[in-house]
Amino acid sequence: MTIKEIYDTFDKIGCLTFATINEAGYPETRIAHLRGYDEQGVYFMTMTSKPFYKQLVDTGKISICGMSASTEVTELEDGNLYFEPGYTARLTGDVIEIDMPEIKEKAKKNSLFEYCVKDQERYPTMVTFCITKFAGEIFKYDFEKKNMDHKVLRTRFSYGNFLSKPAGLTIKGNCIKCGRCHDECTFDAIHEIEVQYQINGSKCDECGSCFLVCPTGAISIRE
Ligand code: SF4
Ligand code: SF4
Repeated sequence: MTIKEIYDTFDKIGCLTFATINEAGYPETRIAHLRGYDEQGVYFMTMTSKPFYKQLVDTGKISICGMSASTEVTELEDGNLYFEPGYTARLTGDVIEIDMPEIKEKAKKNSLFEYCVKDQERYPTMVTFCITKFAGEIFKYDFEKKNMDHKVLRTRFSYGNFLSKPAGLTIKGNCIKCGRCHDECTFDAIHEIEVQYQINGSKCDECGSCFLVCPTGAISIRE
């Protein structure tokens, strides 16, 4: 994915949860939104007077996530839950503070940064941060298969050489092709190949059902 595609995915959601680690080692969250992107990464703002700022400076790390579509969960007559099709998006990475002269330079070339300049001039404690290296995932879901022929589609991305791990459980070498995992998977994520069965990580919900029924322990949960 390009940096624009990644930014647009989060920008479409709007308000996002931003998580940092506080001095006591606990995660802390607040709602904010991204303000722009360029070749250096994606940008957001906060104020030096907030604990959020101190945690960003102390750790240099952040995680953000959000959900596009209705957050409502409906209980159906049969007791199952219904979610409107949509997607969630998340990323985790490294942040750096960008000083005002640099933001002004960026604003000359990219109108997305004009807001940052205006806001920093209006509020003296306002600062801009850039998430320069990150990895994340877009998790598209359609549990009733209204628009897709499978329930989930997971797209992993990374930027700035940040390590990105594949999604889903995986089948190792001692598969005897009994097919139990395939029969158990309700996400259409398992298919047969020549020598064994295989999991398509982009369709796998990591529900673990296949892991529990495999007679040989061939299925692994990724670290
Ligand atoms: S349940 Fe285990 S042994 Fe059977 S097909 Fe699946 S991975 Fe292979
Ligand atoms: S973990 Fe769940 S979704 Fe993934 S392959 Fe196994 S049964 Fe299917």
